[in-house]
Amino acid sequence: MPFVKLNADELILILKQYNHTELHVHHTWKPNHDNFNGKNHERVQKGMRDYHVLTNKWDDIAQHVTLFPDGTFLTGRNFGKQPVSIKGYNGGGNRIPFACEMVGDFDIGEDKLEGKQLDAILKVAKFFNDQNKYIRFHRENAPWKSCPGTGIEKDEFMEQVRNYGKPAQVYWDGSPMRKGQIGRLSILKPINLWKRNSRDEIIYHRVLQPCENYRVYGYDEKHGGQYAVGGGYWVTNMEGYVKYETPSKAKMEALKKL
Ligand SMILES: [Zn+2]
Repeated sequence: MPFVKLNADELILILKQYNHTELHVHHTWKPNHDNFNGKNHERVQKGMRDYHVLTNKWDDIAQHVTLFPDGTFLTGRNFGKQPVSIKGYNGGGNRIPFACEMVGDFDIGEDKLEGKQLDAILKVAKFFNDQNKYIRFHRENAPWKSCPGTGIEKDEFMEQVRNYGKPAQVYWDGSPMRKGQIGRLSILKPINLWKRNSRDEIIYHRVLQPCENYRVYGYDEKHGGQYAVGGGYWVTNMEGYVKYETPSKAKMEALKKL
């Protein structure tokens, strides 16, 4: 069977025609990232198949797909056939797991699972996880192995799977920060909320009540000093009426990175 190149979305479309019971995640260990030059997908895949068929005497390459460092999957054995994946967990009949080998040696200090390769496995793992199908690391049932590598921590990986595609957020005491936010304002005593017109004159909008909180995006000295609370609204800096706080440096750095 010829190897077919697929990106994660194309692979998922095909997987929808099957009903695999779970996803098995492996690293190849060898070949590793050094053996991939950006173009030799087929050669690397053929090397594995030859080894599995000629040396191990298996009926085909062990895995259903191989994931390369550039985020490309190459198909291996027929998706409807049992893989040679994890002893005791290779399924049977029409209940078979889907086995993915990621090219790389992801033990600590060796290759890193990152960039397009990480993105691709997360996307496919999310497809399984969203259907409440288990994501199984090889080492869970082969404790003498590190596969898919000691550099990949299962809890952290699953956290990434669950958050895949969600906008990244930075939280400050439970509320999400917004781009451009520099601080927050808590209202202590009733105080006016102002809008400014094009001539920078203030127009009364409403009275803010104690316990209300506002994100602050700027400050200037006009009208006795005012905080910009977004949407063109301003609150005057009156001692005892408002409390202004700034987030930690770490939060500001994280916010900048979004
Ligand atoms: Zn493995």
